[in-house]
Amino acid sequence: MKRNVLDEIPESPRATKLRPPARTGLWRSVKPVLDGSKCVRCGVCWMYCPDRAVEKVEGGAYKINYDVCKGCGICAEECPSEAIEMVEEDQ
Ligand code: SF4
Ligand code: SF4
Repeated sequence: MKRNVLDEIPESPRATKLRPPARTGLWRSVKPVLDGSKCVRCGVCWMYCPDRAVEKVEGGAYKINYDVCKGCGICAEECPSEAIEMVEEDQ
C-alpha cells in the first residue's frame, strides 16, 4: 500500500509536547487567519512554519497556535490555495 506522509503529521498534543513553552506570539503585529473552506489540507503551511505554530487537528484539518505564531507570513506565502490571509493583529 502507498505510504501517505500526511498521515504521519502529529496532531497538536504531540506537537505541543515537542515545543518549548515560550509564548513568542506576543511579538506579533499581524496574524495569519486560515479559511477552512479554502483549505485543501495539503500540510504545506505545517511544513514551512519555522515555529511549529501550525498544528494538525482531528480530522486532518490545520489550525494556527497563536501562542507561538510570530506572524512572519511564510504560511500565507506558501499556501497553494490562498487559504491563509495575514491581517492586522487588532482585527
Ligand atoms: S497550506 Fe493552505 S491549503 Fe495547505 S493545509 Fe495549509 S492552509 Fe490548508
Ligand atoms: S505566520 Fe509564520 S509563525 Fe505564524 S503560522 Fe504562519 S509561518 Fe508560522
